[in-house]
Amino acid sequence: MSAHPHRAEPFEEVSEAHYAQTYLSGDFVHNLMADSVHLLTGRCPRCGFTFTTEATLTVVRSAVTTAPLATASTPPRTELSITVFCPCPGEHSGRPDDIPDGCGAYWAVLMEERLP
Ligand SMILES: [Zn+2]
Ligand SMILES: [Zn+2]
Repeated sequence: MSAHPHRAEPFEEVSEAHYAQTYLSGDFVHNLMADSVHLLTGRCPRCGFTFTTEATLTVVRSAVTTAPLATASTPPRTELSITVFCPCPGEHSGRPDDIPDGCGAYWAVLMEERLP
């Protein structure tokens, strides 16, 4: 179903600098569902497996916001980092018994949520 062939790399817990950027380019899709549930769909930068990660981000708003005029133009926002692990069920030799799936690749996605 995928136009991208799977790369059966040996299992290795690894994160390289380009992983997040590669993941976020190309086929990446971000859907915001109800209740701050984010669905991140993309392709593992290492083995090419396409998967969807569900992340629940609860934004805590400031209890009281009485911003002075000087900073009123700066919207409040939060930044949250999500670590995404490849959940590929495919063949990756040397995968430890206590790790059910994945090629071992992981990377961080920075979520930024602007508050109204
Ligand atoms: Zn894989
Ligand atoms: Zn992978």
